[in-house]
Amino acid sequence: MKAVLFHQHGGIEVLQYAEFPTPEAGPGQVLVRLKAAALNRMDLFNRVGWPGLKLELPHIPGADGAGEVAALGPGEEGWKVGDRVVINSNLGCGKCDFCIAGKDNMCRNWHLLGETVRGTYAQYVVVPEGNLYPIPDGFSERSAAAAGLVFHTAWHSLIQRGNLRPGETVLIIGASGGVNSACIQIAKLSGASVYVVGSGPDKLALAESLGADFLIDRSKDENWSKSVFHLTHREGVDVVVDNVGTTFPQSFRAAKRGGRILTVGNSGGPVFEIDNRYMFSKHLSLLGSTMGTRQDFAKVMDLVFAGKLKPVLDLDFPLQETASAQAYLESGKQMGKVTLSMN
Ligand SMILES: [Zn+2]
Repeated sequence: MKAVLFHQHGGIEVLQYAEFPTPEAGPGQVLVRLKAAALNRMDLFNRVGWPGLKLELPHIPGADGAGEVAALGPGEEGWKVGDRVVINSNLGCGKCDFCIAGKDNMCRNWHLLGETVRGTYAQYVVVPEGNLYPIPDGFSERSAAAAGLVFHTAWHSLIQRGNLRPGETVLIIGASGGVNSACIQIAKLSGASVYVVGSGPDKLALAESLGADFLIDRSKDENWSKSVFHLTHREGVDVVVDNVGTTFPQSFRAAKRGGRILTVGNSGGPVFEIDNRYMFSKHLSLLGSTMGTRQDFAKVMDLVFAGKLKPVLDLDFPLQETASAQAYLESGKQMGKVTLSMN
């Protein structure tokens, strides 16, 4: 098969479009012929490399993918060849105490497709049969792939960890990232009022088109937590979605007494200082999570397929031009998901 892979960490020049052996489905597994994949920021971090990351090289990136079932592992009967499917990239072992309790994103032998194992920048990929979800007729593989990781992650964080309730106020730090775009829509669908802090009119216009009620331009308003405080009549918000990390000091100030801070990432860098006085004096809760459970995936993809949640699509590149696709994502100019098409 054709795949995009790298033999060593580095810039986009390490990405090669090359022949790679087509994987075979083992027991409990399915071979998927991919039609679309979507890029995530973690693909860039993994290509560059980070301390503690040990990949089996060459590595094929890519967590998100959709296509059709090409072959079944021995004894596998849950799917038929030709079924159109989207991939849930959270790989639980299915056997440990967390997996058995339905918390497969907390699996003791956890893997993430395209991060710790080879992923979807390829014509084919093998995944456990329980990591597929059917795509209804008329829904494109491209939109399904673009929705997967970001809606899954956002749903688990806001609904399962954050326990978001109708009528609550939610502040989202960042206007255009995939998870943030998903969070805006999920929060609105849940009946919350949504405040977004973003940089620049284009990204804020996107947030508004997704349903954001209050927009704050941080390129003009560095001290945005103060604006949130005023907009909420000196109350603060119930929930802050902060996947930047280095913005925690302002997020703590923007949260209401008893508020929850949700985090699934650290786009601003992993290490920073916090002022603990805000945590205890305001009775704040800090709730982290990564990815979501199989149950979350089914719930959120049903809402995506029903048109109640919509992945935001930006450019599509052929698989051969993955390096250009990653360069575009790295530029930060994208306003939605960057996708790949396989022939
Ligand atoms: Zn497990």
